[in-house]
Amino acid sequence: MKRSLLRRVWRCWLRAPLGIVLILLPQRLCAQARPFPGTNFETIYQALLQKIDGIPIFDDHAHPGFSDDPNVDAMTSPPGSSPLRLRETNPEFLQAARALFHYPYSDFSPAHEVWLLRQTADRPGIGYWDHILDQCGIETSLANRVDMPGYLDPKRFRWVFFVDSFLFPFNNKNFINRNPDEAVYIPLQEKMLRRYLRQAALDRLPDTFRNYLAFINHILEQNKSRGGIAMKFEIAYFRSLNFSDPPRAAAAAIYARYGHGGLPSPAEYKTFQDYVFRYLIRQGSRLHLPVNIHTAAVGGDYFSLQKSNVLNLENILRDPRYLHTTFVLLHGGYPYDRKAIWLTAMRNVYLDSSEIELLLYPSEFARILKQWLEIYPDKVMFGSDAYPYSKIIGAEEGYWLGVRSARQSLAWALAEMVADHEITEVAALKMAHSYFHDTAARLYSPTREGERSR
Ligand SMILES: [Zn+2]
Repeated sequence: MKRSLLRRVWRCWLRAPLGIVLILLPQRLCAQARPFPGTNFETIYQALLQKIDGIPIFDDHAHPGFSDDPNVDAMTSPPGSSPLRLRETNPEFLQAARALFHYPYSDFSPAHEVWLLRQTADRPGIGYWDHILDQCGIETSLANRVDMPGYLDPKRFRWVFFVDSFLFPFNNKNFINRNPDEAVYIPLQEKMLRRYLRQAALDRLPDTFRNYLAFINHILEQNKSRGGIAMKFEIAYFRSLNFSDPPRAAAAAIYARYGHGGLPSPAEYKTFQDYVFRYLIRQGSRLHLPVNIHTAAVGGDYFSLQKSNVLNLENILRDPRYLHTTFVLLHGGYPYDRKAIWLTAMRNVYLDSSEIELLLYPSEFARILKQWLEIYPDKVMFGSDAYPYSKIIGAEEGYWLGVRSARQSLAWALAEMVADHEITEVAALKMAHSYFHDTAARLYSPTREGERSR
């Protein structure tokens, strides 16, 4: 009985003119998402872009500083290939120089670049860098640096300090000999550890593992009291992001054996590092220092895609013991960005898009943003990864290009979502504010620290 009634209704619908069928469709159905954009995409894009341009930015990840400042990073530009968009031949850097400095030339020939270098020859101070942020629409920028120089305004630039060197206290010959990239990087980590020892008034490694951990704590607390608001790992440059869970006694025994000489085997070194890494992230919870981790396959020709794959962190990120540590996956796990977003299901895990919007052009970056926003829009943050790549491509140009690219890409991604009836324009603007400002501002705010400790 029911079946024949259904058949009759169906036949009736088939005979009815299309217009009548559409009128009879419930209103809500028309508001459902659809797989093709509406004809008004361009109008929506322009309207959104205009509003997005006015959002003050919180930059989750950058390395501000002059190109000859040795403390701008614990690492350095890796030797090796440079992706197309980051080459000095990219005309967008000319646009950046024109927009920021009124650069009067149409190339970076040696004769012309002198003009650009002259702009910073007398090491301008706080006003110069504040003005760069103002020109780019950035309210606050995190500064991933060895230390904070006098020329950065502490009200606008907040310090993120490096902690990888605590994982390299022994003879590092096996790392250094592995490939030309490590030969550049490892001595910089050793230098960083010597710097921390000096900071703690130590002239050599502490005698016992217990005292070594106390030394680590001392530096973390000291750096926090000096304005540090997060700790940063660049460990993906050196080894797998998979950290096993060895007992403290195993790490202590390795420290006792090699703390003052001898060459640990790769397996012994890994066990030691696995313990110290986990120790550091526990301190991140105790001291309310979010843990920022480099998760992108970029940095020298020998960078291991497999080892640095962000999914290797899954056992850490989904471990309930670390729920009170806040993790930020820098560079969104690129090129595993589609997978990385699912890790942010955990309430304490976030990711940022730093570096991706510099590597990829807006048409491709918009696709990544769109997918992230369609899954966990409140866990995604903007970061520029501005860095003094060379004398010509300074952190200044990096800020400018990162912001400009991200604004266009975000407007593009959101306009598609609005045109496809996935979200309203109001919801789109809320997402834009979260991405460019609100999520990061909340994550690093001192009041949140109070919330978490309750
Ligand atoms: Zn960076």
